[in-house]
Amino acid sequence: MSLPEIQITSRAIDRIVSGHPWIYRSDIRQADTIEPGSVVWLVDRKRRFWGQALYSSQSQIALRLLAREEREFDRAFLAERILEAARYRSRIAEGAQAYRLVSSEGDLLPSLIIDRYGDCFVIQTLSQGMERWKAVVVEILQEHFTPRMIVERNDVAVRSVEGLPEQKGILAGEGECKVRIEENGVQFEFDLLEGQKTGGFLDQRENRAAACEYARGRMLDCFCYQGGFALTLASPCESVLGIDSSKEALEGARRNQELNQISQVDWREANCFDFLKSADHDGLRFDTIVLDPPAFARHKSNQEAALRAYKELNLRALKILNPDGFLITCSCSFHVSEADLLEVIASAALDAHRTVSVVERRTQARDHPILITVPETHYLKCLILRAL
Ligand code: SAH
Repeated sequence: MSLPEIQITSRAIDRIVSGHPWIYRSDIRQADTIEPGSVVWLVDRKRRFWGQALYSSQSQIALRLLAREEREFDRAFLAERILEAARYRSRIAEGAQAYRLVSSEGDLLPSLIIDRYGDCFVIQTLSQGMERWKAVVVEILQEHFTPRMIVERNDVAVRSVEGLPEQKGILAGEGECKVRIEENGVQFEFDLLEGQKTGGFLDQRENRAAACEYARGRMLDCFCYQGGFALTLASPCESVLGIDSSKEALEGARRNQELNQISQVDWREANCFDFLKSADHDGLRFDTIVLDPPAFARHKSNQEAALRAYKELNLRALKILNPDGFLITCSCSFHVSEADLLEVIASAALDAHRTVSVVERRTQARDHPILITVPETHYLKCLILRAL
């Protein structure tokens, strides 16, 4: 075999055996001669083979497991994995025009994200290893999906951990980077080059549909971005107010509102913490409230502060929620578990003197697979609550 070898410790082997694909730098021996980003063979002291992985010379996650079999990871192997991921989407995201086609570790393609927006694709290559396969990913997409355009959204901070530059642009095709997509019967325009994330928050697609069942009366959508929840939930509601601190997000929300000719929705540019505080003071009340904030705990060290922020948001929301109202509350922080979130909300419910029941415990849409041995793949929590 011509691939370079890296010797890993018994602790790293235990991790592989327990189904986790990451090996930390402290668990590898001598890798100085290995080229950054290469595919390497993992061996123990006796040179027994344990798998193959992408090697990073910079990140604390030195190795990301690609496969435990000896078949060399090459273009055909990569194509098979992408097509396998696509087959699964055709079963669970059938009818969706925008969805995550490849979800990194969740599809056994560590640090590769491919989002599909109709006939356009947005990719992220988030490690030195996957960066090297970027051109091949583009070719595979062209060969199997005949895309109109492939966009790169590698303008994300995690790339710096890998020593990679932040960059974005069109990798293939041409034309307009704004695409119109129908989701749950509502039209949305996504800007693949300028929008947040890869254009939209696809992980909430199923939760937006689920929340429809409960929405009614006066609705408040906090952290509304381009109106994902607000517009999806609008039809059963008398009125909807969407709040976001980003002017650009609200411009998108207004465009989406026009596309759908929905009249009962208003938007306000504000910090949601400030808004919720003054809403209570001003006596505003709602029957349905959505809280979908950005990740407050990106690192374990932020966990405590994050819990305080979730408590404050949920407490303030419960204070302005009418009796028998529904609160759809989310957290996309991996470092805040569902149990943590439930505990924080229980405490908020007691402080607000409300009796709260859990109507649905939800998570990210199924096109963002959760690997049972990789806790990091489960990040989104969405609780649908009823408050008396
Ligand atoms: N609910 C949206 C996604 C929300 S993403 C959907 O379904 O598509 C989080 C949003 O919170 C982003 O649009 C961001 O601009 C906004 N945001 C971040 N911090 C904020 C704050 N303190 N107050 C208001 N909006 C904020």
